[in-house]
Amino acid sequence: MPSRRALVAGNWKMHGLKASVAQLEAVLRGSARVRADVDLMVCPPATLIAAFAAAATGSRVAIGGQDCHAEPSGAYTGDISAEMLADAGARAVIVGHSERRGYHRETDADVCGKTLAARRAGLVAIVCIGETQAERAGGHTLAVVERQLAGSVPDRAGPDNLVIAYEPVWAIGTGLTPTAADIEAVHGMIRKRLARRFAASGEGIRVLYGGSVKPENARELLAVGGVDGALVGGASLKAEDFLAIAAAYA
Ligand code: PEP
Repeated sequence: MPSRRALVAGNWKMHGLKASVAQLEAVLRGSARVRADVDLMVCPPATLIAAFAAAATGSRVAIGGQDCHAEPSGAYTGDISAEMLADAGARAVIVGHSERRGYHRETDADVCGKTLAARRAGLVAIVCIGETQAERAGGHTLAVVERQLAGSVPDRAGPDNLVIAYEPVWAIGTGLTPTAADIEAVHGMIRKRLARRFAASGEGIRVLYGGSVKPENARELLAVGGVDGALVGGASLKAEDFLAIAAAYA
């Protein structure tokens, strides 16, 4: 099996003003504390991508967007295309985050279109999938995640254009996390489906865990079998916490 480099990515959501570049600079300064074989990424709001990409030039920290439109351009007021993100200096884009699926009613088909757009623009798509509390309580976790994975990921995906983030919706921003056994079971299923669908290139696709990852639980969560890194929301806003999570790879 090909070895997969760990990735720790920060999702800043709708937080950050121009002055927040100071937090990114603190991440850049502190990144030497993080093992050299761990990839780092910060996904700020779209308004900050160009400034963050400029600040991170030549560093080990990649900059990503948080969403993109499926079309390269057009009459879509307020939307941003994958090409625009790439032009601003992004190397990746999060798609299908549960907040987009929930607040903006994005379907798996919508997410699949955005994932294709990311590839067209030369970006890595970080595709988020995960069950709600009700789905977990009903015993549907594996079926839901499997369906989202199948519907959100287009054909011919590989490690150069795709990262999967398993993010249980009930764990996002709540301080709750699944047990290690539960995470391992979901990641195991995702890994099997990727290998079956994409053969050897599927084995290289990284599968992150996301949902209330903090400095206090990072070591335990990142050590779970099949977890290739973390997508971090709230704790990524403070450079110290983000670096402490990435430094859990000792
Ligand atoms: C997220 O929004 O992707 C996320 C994982 O958030 P948090 O770490 O705050 O739970």
